[in-house]
Amino acid sequence: MEVDDDFDVREFDGINIDFEAAKKAVLEVIKAVGEDPEREGLRNTPDRVSRMYAELLSGYSMDPQKIINGALFNINYDEMVLVRDIEFYSLCEHHMLPFLGRAHVAYIPKGKVIGLSKIPRLVDMYARRLQVQERMTRQIADLLQETLEPQGVAVVVEAMHLCSMMRGVKKHDARMTTSAMHGAFRANLATRQEFLNNISRSRVMLG
Ligand SMILES: [Zn+2]
Repeated sequence: MEVDDDFDVREFDGINIDFEAAKKAVLEVIKAVGEDPEREGLRNTPDRVSRMYAELLSGYSMDPQKIINGALFNINYDEMVLVRDIEFYSLCEHHMLPFLGRAHVAYIPKGKVIGLSKIPRLVDMYARRLQVQERMTRQIADLLQETLEPQGVAVVVEAMHLCSMMRGVKKHDARMTTSAMHGAFRANLATRQEFLNNISRSRVMLG
């Protein structure tokens, strides 16, 4: 599968961030920790950080209908479609620290399929927000369920959470796996097992 990772401005409705407010807030944090906001390395940090948030949180301004636009096809195909190892980077909403990992997405069509490169973009749209992994997993599954009305949808997300790794007692297991299943994946053990076998095989291959 080929995924075009280029940023597509047509999917982007502009950056809905109040840059001045964000810059001010970052400046306050720098002062609050006792740093000198005027020293060279920090002088442009409020500006850089607010631009960074505009990028990392751009998912709020992405419209799923624009992402999907024109990439739904009526096809008589009813085998499992699987896109695995979709890399994503998100920010946990509790600490605004990154969590990152891979999403595996499968569905069994009922007359309708979606262009393969669109699925990573939809994952990205939900990842680039203040998130919790459980909700992100469910949002991806629900969107595909509503859009494709397939026989079933399955999403598994594996991620590492920097807020667990960097803070407190670092013994905390920072890896988490979440899943959301609809339709055949929920109802049929063999279908679910086929999906899980497929994604575990990919994990072995990648070490
Ligand atoms: Zn957190």
